Amino acid sequence: MPADLYDVAIIGRGPAGLQAAIHAAGKKAKVVVFGKLEKSSLYRAHVANFCCFEKVMTGKELLEGGTKQAESFGAVFIEQDIIETKSETDCFTVVTENGQTYSSRTLILTMGISRKKLRVKGEKEFVGRGVSYCVDCDANFYKGMDVAVVGNESAAVTGAITLLRYAKQVHLVCRKLTITDLLYDQLNNSDVKISRKAWVKEIIGSNEVEEVLLTTGETLKVNGIFIELGAKGAMELAANLGVVFDAETFSFIETNKWQETNIPGLYAAGDITGQPWQIAKAVGEGCVAGMEAAVYARKLADS
Ligand SMILES: Cc1cc2nc3c(=O)[nH]c(=O)nc-3n(C[C@H](O)[C@H](O)[C@H](O)COP(=O)(O)OP(=O)(O)OC[C@H]3O[C@@H](n4cnc5c(N)ncnc54)[C@H](O)[C@@H]3O)c2cc1C
Repeated sequence: MPADLYDVAIIGRGPAGLQAAIHAAGKKAKVVVFGKLEKSSLYRAHVANFCCFEKVMTGKELLEGGTKQAESFGAVFIEQDIIETKSETDCFTVVTENGQTYSSRTLILTMGISRKKLRVKGEKEFVGRGVSYCVDCDANFYKGMDVAVVGNESAAVTGAITLLRYAKQVHLVCRKLTITDLLYDQLNNSDVKISRKAWVKEIIGSNEVEEVLLTTGETLKVNGIFIELGAKGAMELAANLGVVFDAETFSFIETNKWQETNIPGLYAAGDITGQPWQIAKAVGEGCVAGMEAAVYARKLADS
């Protein structure tokens, strides 16, 4: 057994990882957290729907607060990405980008997801100023305004239908929809304006989004555009450990209600376990994973 063995190692420093660290360290486990704050999807967000914070908070504020809290409970932070994971007898080892190896009795995966990008002019520039990747998070900011949603699958269509409750006009830009007949009927019976066989060519504005130029030559005058193209998970590290993914999309880690994966001592929490991609879910799962991992590590140490 390595001399500097941790009880709980956490890969990821977003809300799921931070909450897991707070609860694991709160149980007096020796906790180490890997990752970079500014790489959390929350970092550039403005949050209005997280319980107990009545005023809009920046993601940066929430993450910095969570880090201080976790440190005050005794968690140690290593500002490095993990490039390799291994399962050994009774422990896991992880290797950082600068080549250091750390060992821990348990491991919690909270690497989040990265949303698929459109990769068009204006997209990067207007993130948070009219470009959004999350209807559930940002719909409220577009009350009475005109918005567009781009995407071909059910996330884009349900997003557009949800936005009808907030926005004045909702456009859906799609090449070819791949959705169920039921959703098709719902869309056709709704007030969503559909631009078919079209895609976004450019997002235009001065300070905020003002227009979206389509490949058909049409221009949509909108205040916001929601990019709903799905997500990529940080799956290679999990796959190396032999983790089971969800059967439907093979993109998210399967867990039970204790956030256990199929591998003993290995837990997952947050966006990486699937939708909804929301802080409230991430911290809820992080809390459970942190507590369960701490208890499991204690049992291993005592055995
Ligand atoms: C623009 C935007 C606005 C949003 N607004 C809201 C909102 O208003 N309300 C809401 O509830 N949710 C909102 N969300 C969603 C919310 O940010 C996510 O649900 C939440 O951050 C998920 O937490 P997480 O800990 O699972 O993942 P993340 O916060 O994405 O954190 C993942 C962490 O893993 C780390 N990581 C990844 N790979 C590695 C590796 N190999 N080694 C080490 N570390 C690694 C990353 O650096 C990061 O620290 C928004 C998201 C976006 C993009």
